[in-house]
Amino acid sequence: MSEATLYPHKNHRMIFMQDERMARPQAHAIDIHNLPELDATGQLLDHLGRPLRDLRISVTDRCNFRCNYCMPKEVFTKDYPYLPHSALLSFEEITRLAKVFLSHGVRKIRLTGGEPLLRKNLEVLIAQLAELRTPEGHPLDLTLTTNGSLLAKKAKALKAAGLHRVTVSLDGLDDAIFRSMNDVDFPVADVLAGIDAARDAGLGLDTKGQFSGIKINMVVKRGTNTDQILPMARRFQGTGMVLRFIEYMDVGASNGWRMDEVMPSSEVVALINKEMPLVQLAANNPGETARRWGYADASGKYDPALGEIGVISSVTQAFCGDCNRARLSTEGKLYLCLFANQGYDLLPLLRGTDVTTDATIANAIAQIWQQRTDRYSELRSSMPPDTQSSTNSPKRVEMSYIGG
Ligand code: SAM
Ligand code: SF4
Ligand code: SF4
Repeated sequence: MSEATLYPHKNHRMIFMQDERMARPQAHAIDIHNLPELDATGQLLDHLGRPLRDLRISVTDRCNFRCNYCMPKEVFTKDYPYLPHSALLSFEEITRLAKVFLSHGVRKIRLTGGEPLLRKNLEVLIAQLAELRTPEGHPLDLTLTTNGSLLAKKAKALKAAGLHRVTVSLDGLDDAIFRSMNDVDFPVADVLAGIDAARDAGLGLDTKGQFSGIKINMVVKRGTNTDQILPMARRFQGTGMVLRFIEYMDVGASNGWRMDEVMPSSEVVALINKEMPLVQLAANNPGETARRWGYADASGKYDPALGEIGVISSVTQAFCGDCNRARLSTEGKLYLCLFANQGYDLLPLLRGTDVTTDATIANAIAQIWQQRTDRYSELRSSMPPDTQSSTNSPKRVEMSYIGG
């Protein structure tokens, strides 16, 4: 995008909403010289009354796996237009934006991707983010989602840099199934070794130093890994780690999503409950994506020693009503929904020719968030079943680009 396009009028700097890789080059502009002056009170609400609490930052759009539900290898070939290195936000730019987001109420930052551990010197970014404090003087909840392939090597350094917690994606224990789902023949034993290394390094501690568990994410695809649900539940019961079952979602436009491959979380819970009785637990925080189920003891009461599972039912039980998550792409676009097809380009605010203060960036983010009306999953639930397919939807950004 040329500067002339970005700054069509000398006194009117614009933020454009667009993803250059999309076929439809629509652009919505915000005139940041006419932004209302807003003090960042941490009380920012979107158009539907939802606060901003959780920021997911994608640090790379590349990955060493080709999970067929995320980066099918027929689409994500070596010729795929990945972002060039020069387009990536620097660690300083990410930290600057993170600080502004904190002033608006963000309390949790999750680093994601692509595979975040592929980003060179990620520990440096973690150390910078770990230094940040909320307006009340508390550290933020800093976490990372990884496929675990590099965790055995990096867990100690990540912990030393200040990472609190980690979520590891693992879709099964059966080596053949796991290798075929990651589609690069990666062995499950290496991810399990990564999880052990993360636990041994002390990842899984919350900001108060209490063990809140490493999270394990399993995407359930009917007919592909449904027979892995019980082995996974048995393996992680009583370990202090929280296994979360994610409904296969229609993110992006390349995974050929079909409703009949979604196994509703209610079925997952029923299946586990037959062998290992479960009781429903209250949410830890408002806006939490997972519904919690605790393992019960012989008397039918929740037994904390046995632990809990979570289910993320974004397809069958939409939770847009309290969605407090924003997403920052690798090259500085702000997305208000996982299913968005356009983002707000913050890069000109960071690299433009004029000096932009943090207050201006805060005002721009406030304006963007206040206009937010996104509630894709709720709207999808109200569509007739034969239209609930990604092939019928406008081209959306890929999960590997926007981060999970
Ligand atoms: N590469 C890292 C990983 O796999 O953990 C981080 C990025 S990945 C996009 C983040 C999360 O999104 C993972 O837990 C992954 O399983 C999940 N995910 C990707 N595609 C999905 C889909 N179509 N439906 C549900 N979850 C998906
Ligand atoms: Fe890579 Fe994660 Fe997507 Fe799998 S889910 S392809 S590991 S980004
Ligand atoms: Fe949030 Fe969009 Fe997901 Fe709804 S569909 S919960 S608004 S990210």
